[in-house]
Amino acid sequence: MTRRPRIAMIEDNEDNRLLGRALLEDRYDVIEFATGPDGLSGILAEPPDLVLLDISLPGMDGREVLDHLRADPRSATLPVVALTAHAMAGDREHLLKLGFDAYVSKPIVDEQDLLKTIERLLPGREGGLA
Ligand code: MN
Repeated sequence: MTRRPRIAMIEDNEDNRLLGRALLEDRYDVIEFATGPDGLSGILAEPPDLVLLDISLPGMDGREVLDHLRADPRSATLPVVALTAHAMAGDREHLLKLGFDAYVSKPIVDEQDLLKTIERLLPGREGGLA
């Protein structure tokens, strides 16, 4: 794709949003949402190329947001990456079973892991970093 990919980040922690934006904005257009309902309506109004989705969110948690995204034809096949706290390590395989395409640990300390995960899932990418 020639245009910059658009990534939606739904994350209620402002520090995590700032860090995510700092790591991504050189390569991608980043749109941020702080609650599940805001993220869901924003994504459905203008679907991005990939979603980074926190699990613990006010209003509607990440699992519920994912269910709504998968149920809507505008977003059913969007790549969705779960942002998971280290303490949730035991739940990660469960997240894949729920339909998340991948997960990334928070706080994000491994920039390459994040970028590789995103590039692997973006439509039309060969899986390598450009
Ligand atoms: Mn959270």
